[in-house]
Amino acid sequence: MSRPATADIDLSAYLHNLRVAKSLAPGARILAVVKANAYGHGIQTVGKHIAPYVDALGVACLEEAVALRWAGVNQPILLLEGPLSIEEVIEAEQHKLTLNICSEHQISWLEEAHVTAPLTCWLKIDSGMHRLGVPLHNARKAARRLQESSNCRDLEVVCTHFACADEPESPSISTQAEHFLRTAAPLQLPLSMANSATLFNYPQYAKQWIRPGYLLTGNSPLSVKRDPRLKPAMTLRSSVISIREVERGHGVGYGYRWIAQRNSRIATVAIGYGDGYPRSAPDGTPTIVSGTIAPIAGRVSMDMLTIDVTGLDHVDIGSPVTLWGQDMNVNEIADHAGTIGYELLTRVSGRVARNYVS
Ligand SMILES: *Cc1c(COP(=O)(O)O)cnc(C)c1O
Repeated sequence: MSRPATADIDLSAYLHNLRVAKSLAPGARILAVVKANAYGHGIQTVGKHIAPYVDALGVACLEEAVALRWAGVNQPILLLEGPLSIEEVIEAEQHKLTLNICSEHQISWLEEAHVTAPLTCWLKIDSGMHRLGVPLHNARKAARRLQESSNCRDLEVVCTHFACADEPESPSISTQAEHFLRTAAPLQLPLSMANSATLFNYPQYAKQWIRPGYLLTGNSPLSVKRDPRLKPAMTLRSSVISIREVERGHGVGYGYRWIAQRNSRIATVAIGYGDGYPRSAPDGTPTIVSGTIAPIAGRVSMDMLTIDVTGLDHVDIGSPVTLWGQDMNVNEIADHAGTIGYELLTRVSGRVARNYVS
């Protein structure tokens, strides 16, 4: 017995997308971002599979890095937000992690920590996004402090992050880039500026290290439509567990949001917001049932959702349903639900079994 809500993860698609990322930045080194459980795909399996093909992996927090080490990943791992306490500096050293130093606080923690060996560090500069990073006017001083600290083995990379890279020709990109490059150039260190959207829209800022995450999942960071160069790695599936005729004028599901405009056939699918399918998906959001598009009809519940299969006589109990994947772009579902594909992928819950194919 097993719940039919499953996520098939195609590991070869991940490797294909990695090659696409590399082709957008020839010669650059690649830090593959696998935070948030590798965008819902499973950090240990994905991390272990792609590690031999990347120069480093990037995660949001210590727990994610430790999960990768437990999975047997020996590549450099960058803590993208840096250590959150002096204790985290010590733990990071024990796991041979690289610190992205993002503030003067973090420099002090690094300086004061009693570690057995010095750590490799990146330095993050706030060039205008105003989320993380040392301010532009402190950047050179911060770099000097790191280079003089006996707990810093090597200041390896200087990096920054753009606020509007998903917008083509955003004037803020050139402003941020100018500020960053003017500040970082005298340090004469490798630079890193590019997430997925930057790689597509502003490849001139690929520089020495790229940091793609979402594009490795095979989905476009820019457009609702599928990017033909990429292969979506996750297919979210379930199946029909119940079918009924609903007479014209009758409602379906909580609050009767959907009312049959004709005599209808409604299929109930075993997946819901408890699995990560968005409750905000409106009536009409497409699914694929036995190869045919069928729209959501009625509010998504925790464990189930209902679709209109009127006239689809081949649909029956047990019919397979695809919620998103290669044939149904997650960005499109996200667009219906008023969010982005990133959120849908990272929200696929622990209840959904991941099935890996390579
Ligand atoms: C999440 C993250 C990335 C990856 O961004 P994508 O849009 O998924 O490519 C790169 N750099 C930093 C600092 C991040 O936090």
